Amino acid sequence: MAEKKVTGYCVKCRAKSEFKNSKEVKMKNGRPALKGTCAKCGTGMYRILSAKKK
Ligand SMILES: [Zn+2]
Repeated sequence: MAEKKVTGYCVKCRAKSEFKNSKEVKMKNGRPALKGTCAKCGTGMYRILSAKKK
């Protein structure tokens, strides 16, 4: 699989976690976001992809 490893903050693990089944979605305001589940616990995670690079 050539999937990029994307991490986000999981509120359940209270730590950074890898996205599982990440999907790029567009929010109502047109901003891109990433939707997926925590690879560790399966909790839904959502990450806004802003233009800012962190
Ligand atoms: Zn988690």
